[in-house]
Amino acid sequence: MWLQQGLSLAAINQQFISFLDEAKRLKAHYASQITLLVGLETEFITPRDLEELECILEQYQPHVIEYIVGSVHHVHGIPIDFDEATYRRSVTSFGGGGTRDSTEGDRGQLEAFLLAYFDAQYELLQRFKPEIVGHLDLCRLYTPDLKFTDFQEVWKRIERNVEYAIAYGALFEVNAAAFRKKWKTAYPGPDVAQVGFFPSLTFLILFFFVAYTSTWREVCIVGR
Ligand SMILES: [Zn+2]
Repeated sequence: MWLQQGLSLAAINQQFISFLDEAKRLKAHYASQITLLVGLETEFITPRDLEELECILEQYQPHVIEYIVGSVHHVHGIPIDFDEATYRRSVTSFGGGGTRDSTEGDRGQLEAFLLAYFDAQYELLQRFKPEIVGHLDLCRLYTPDLKFTDFQEVWKRIERNVEYAIAYGALFEVNAAAFRKKWKTAYPGPDVAQVGFFPSLTFLILFFFVAYTSTWREVCIVGR
């Protein structure tokens, strides 16, 4: 987004450092009233993002950056939550659609897209063990009725990712932004979040406050 706005990588980096400085200042200023945790949300557009993230964390973790939200917003380098047309472009980048049996081709294409999303998420989890798993099922943002259980291999990937994250103690974000995007529920959808399926699933509920030009996240509830 920032690159689209014409900001150079150096300018984005400077903006991030300014964010950390301001966060440190606020943390100290309000220390007697509130415990502020400073964190960042990941991007995984290309492998280079993860390399850059490693450099940032080496520099700032754990003294400045206290937690990470591990999120995937791109598949095949294409945004999946920007708008529906761009999401479709990401899905069709897997080819296989529009074949003689187009329904089967489209299904294969969608399955390949979903597998790539959850494999990218798994790589992120393994490499960084983020304290919070961000919007676990963002890959169906524009297809909220999609049932992962209709895709056996995809469902296995979800189980693998969730079990892995539970094993190292991750929290799972419940993200109310889904309502704004016309879902009937928050992320993750009920099939992933159903009570009893993942008995030790821990949710972190984030509420979004939009203040002027910035979106602020406040951690409100952490519970099992
Ligand atoms: Zn996100």
